[in-house]
Amino acid sequence: MALKFIDEADIDGKKILARFDFNVPLDKDDKSKISDTSRIDLALETIQYLLDNGASRLTLMSHHGRPKGKVNKDFSLEPVAKYLADKLGQEVILAESAVDSGVKELLTLPKTKIVLLENLRFNPGEESNDEEFAGKLAQYGEVYVNDAFGAAHREHASTHIINKYFLSRSYGGFLLKKEITALDKILGKPQKPFVAIVGGAKVSDKIKTIEKLIVTVDSLIIGGAMAYPFLKAKGFEVGSSLCSDEDIVLAQRILKADKANKIQLPQDHIVSNEFGGAPTECDQRNIPSDMMGLDIGPLTLASYSAIINEANTILWNGPMGLFENTDYAKGTMGVAKAIADSNGYSLVGGGDSVSAVNKSGFASEFSHISTGGGASLEYIEKGELPGVKALRFGV
Ligand code: AMP
Repeated sequence: MALKFIDEADIDGKKILARFDFNVPLDKDDKSKISDTSRIDLALETIQYLLDNGASRLTLMSHHGRPKGKVNKDFSLEPVAKYLADKLGQEVILAESAVDSGVKELLTLPKTKIVLLENLRFNPGEESNDEEFAGKLAQYGEVYVNDAFGAAHREHASTHIINKYFLSRSYGGFLLKKEITALDKILGKPQKPFVAIVGGAKVSDKIKTIEKLIVTVDSLIIGGAMAYPFLKAKGFEVGSSLCSDEDIVLAQRILKADKANKIQLPQDHIVSNEFGGAPTECDQRNIPSDMMGLDIGPLTLASYSAIINEANTILWNGPMGLFENTDYAKGTMGVAKAIADSNGYSLVGGGDSVSAVNKSGFASEFSHISTGGGASLEYIEKGELPGVKALRFGV
């Protein structure tokens, strides 16, 4: 069954209940400030569309952080309500809780137009996919919209079981549509050569995605700490780099499956004698025993860039090194530049790689920047997400 999006919905005069992913990072020193508003900015198109098309009332909902089913003001959506009101130029009332009796009262007031429910995860029913909790939320709307791509891999009350109450009245928002369309482009018949770049800290986090990708890609570029278990599995020395025994076993399994030699590994490194210490170039694959690898080296970057340059489809998830430290950011920034320079269709996902792309200044050169790292990996792995499946088929 085709997924229905809001441009097919009858919105005029209707009360809308809409789920977004407003899980934005807050400033460390001032928790009332949002340090990266991208996720809210990307939701505005859907919200504005609902308003422009005559929604009589909008009840917005989201989670924020991990308050673990308890009220914790550190995870309040108050900064989000303020930012939204500012952007929409309209009052956005923050309801004190998602389901207490006050919300219903608030929603019956004639002047109430946009309400943001307080953090759904203040209630244990959200993460346990509780039907009763979802039922209470469902009373706030005649039409349900899910635009929370970043939470679509979760089977939670507001993304999953809630669909039960809306049957043919549930729709995907514009951000969800963009994300799914971009991923389908990669998963369907990607234009070849198709190159995937996978980095980050641990093989175990991305093993299933790698196993899926190895079948369809022409090259699988590995970087970041993820590379060391692969090098170790091939008999190279990795010094004191991050490299767990569990990851070496997984790397062996992947290398064995890679009959066509699609996997590309670093030939040189930027190393240090301590985590985040002074950087030194290591111009060979073997890393001395007292050193740890913290970035890919210049030879590796050049060869990875050449492969990226030839690609017609590029998928990137995970940094090439300890990019938060400028001494070890060259590999990650270099890969961002190589992708920006290429003519291929490019999709980047994953919090760290997305923030690296934003830092690099090349963000506008990417075809699609995903708002959901976990969700995009799971979609690549399984070809479906619980939140999207529930929208499509119900629960
Ligand atoms: P992930 O969440 O798995 O994508 O991992 C991202 C994290 O891995 C970032 O915080 C990076 O700083 C870190 N990382 C990448 N490469 C290395 C490395 N060689 N050594 C230590 N940490 C790394």
